[in-house]
Amino acid sequence: MCAVTLVVVEIGGKDRLACAQCEFVHWNNPKPVTATIVPLDDGVVLVKRKFEPFVGDWCLPGGFIECAEHPAESAAREVFEETGLEVKITKLLGATSPGRGINVVILFYEGSPIAGTLTPGDDAEEARCFKREELATLNIAFNLHRQAIEDWFNNAAGN
Ligand SMILES: [Zn+2]
Repeated sequence: MCAVTLVVVEIGGKDRLACAQCEFVHWNNPKPVTATIVPLDDGVVLVKRKFEPFVGDWCLPGGFIECAEHPAESAAREVFEETGLEVKITKLLGATSPGRGINVVILFYEGSPIAGTLTPGDDAEEARCFKREELATLNIAFNLHRQAIEDWFNNAAGN
């Protein structure tokens, strides 16, 4: 905004990028994203990625939360956009962060299909169900997605 190069300033014990002319601090807070487990036909719904990163790998439907959007509403919207399924969000399964410079917070939800037909959206190459035994050899884009799916199957088996 001041059109000057930001400088490193220590605030709260950490180095931050800040403006030397005004009060602006680039806090670099993480962006929130959702990923949703949609149980269907004894498996879960995954989408094949059409765009970078990890083109051709599979992942849970999800994406960035939009401005002023409730996280659960965002999760349902992303599932619909990517899979054609309307879901009722049933549970917040957990929240985590990948670390390693990937600046997001992931909210994992569970959502039950209530309408629609499983069909890939614009940013998915393919959308389909996978049974638990099919997952071991599948290329899943994000380790945290794989972990969340495994945890979900473990909990489902325990019920
Ligand atoms: Zn400034």
